[in-house]
Amino acid sequence: MKCSAASTPQQVAFAMSEPQIPRKTPLLGLYKDQIISMFRESGYESWRANQVWEWLYVSAARNFGVMTNIPLKMRDEFTEKYSIELPKISEKKHSIDGTMKFALEVSGGDIVEMVFIPEKAFVPHSAQIDDTGIPVACCAARPDYDDSDLLPVSANEPMITEPLARATLCVSSQIGCLVKCAFCFTGTQRFARNLEAHEIIGQVLLMRDLLGDTGGKDSKRTLTNIVFMGMGEPLHNYENVSRAIKIIMAEDGLAFSRRRITLSTAGVVPYIKRCGEELGVNLAISLHATNDKLRDYLMPINKQFPLSSLLDAVQKYPGINQSRRVTFEYVMLKGMNDSDKDARDLARLISGIPAKVNLIPWNYWPGATFQTSSRERIATFSEILTNCGVNNTVRQQRGVDILAACGQLRTGQGDLQNTDANSAL
Ligand code: SAH
Ligand code: SF4
Repeated sequence: MKCSAASTPQQVAFAMSEPQIPRKTPLLGLYKDQIISMFRESGYESWRANQVWEWLYVSAARNFGVMTNIPLKMRDEFTEKYSIELPKISEKKHSIDGTMKFALEVSGGDIVEMVFIPEKAFVPHSAQIDDTGIPVACCAARPDYDDSDLLPVSANEPMITEPLARATLCVSSQIGCLVKCAFCFTGTQRFARNLEAHEIIGQVLLMRDLLGDTGGKDSKRTLTNIVFMGMGEPLHNYENVSRAIKIIMAEDGLAFSRRRITLSTAGVVPYIKRCGEELGVNLAISLHATNDKLRDYLMPINKQFPLSSLLDAVQKYPGINQSRRVTFEYVMLKGMNDSDKDARDLARLISGIPAKVNLIPWNYWPGATFQTSSRERIATFSEILTNCGVNNTVRQQRGVDILAACGQLRTGQGDLQNTDANSAL
């Protein structure tokens, strides 16, 4: 099995022969097979790897000390050699609609954001509720977390205590993004690096820990869906993203269904097929324009992979059919791509592909000169699509007040580009 990034057993051995760099191997980015072979090489029975795996992904253990079915001496050795590294929360923001944005510190002190989107404001099942029904401590199961991580901002907010039907985590795959779409705040940040697989998995585990979710038969799950719609272009970091997704989907671990994971891409054509074949997750394509001239401007990646090649790859996406459709995301930009003709062109362009369209009102960010289409325009656009037989929805804007909605994430300074949209047309 191929092993990526800085965590192969060979690299570990190398790191250990260099005593001045005491680097522990992060276990979270490794497949179970790899942990097994790494343990074997270090003289541990392979079933110890199964135990550790279960502790990590089913019982949510975050240090070796609590792994009580492993001898104490071995736990100490594991602590010396391996790490269970989760990102650290450096800042959190709570939207009035219940959405939460977390700035996370990952390896090397870099900061990346993730967004938790419950269907409505709620109290997680990890909370302790006092006699009057008010949540007093949120992360009862995790005393190492700050209660205010999840409690609603004020007692006046609507609180839901019954289980949520849907709660989504929007994860990031890169720090910054090289695609630099003109309408996206992330694109204005200087690209720092790809996230490692363990940093992507770490976002999911951290959120599950905050919610008190566990795996296994009696699993309590608040987090139901994962979308790769945070910072970065996931198909520009395919090796780490695919590794993370495979680990998140592992049946003897978190066991997330591929149907509950959506990967959104600006259209890195060569990886679309692999994504379908190897991962089989839901695919969302950021389309945003119906002709190459406009798309070249809005999304410079179109010059590399023009519409015809993108649509061809989508048409062939393994596993799509009428019951499992591809989503085309279409950001609504006033006066740019939102005319009646655009709607008809869009319907024509994607006809024959089992697809649905998700219309996204453009989200504001500081310094941008785009404008979102009016509600009426979006409604008319949607109606035209419907009349042309195109299944479509309008994406609810969530977390706009804390810059947590689509395209609003940004954690660093950078090359703020000229965003005068109209001058380009
Ligand atoms: N890089 C991936 C996923 C992250 S962005 C991609 O581009 O697909 C998630 C979605 O938000 C994409 O469809 C993206 O085009 C859209 N988006 C970016 N900036 C936006 C903004 N300011 N307002 C609304 N949607 C935006
Ligand atoms: Fe990158 Fe997606 Fe933003 Fe484009 S929309 S700059 S691909 S994160």
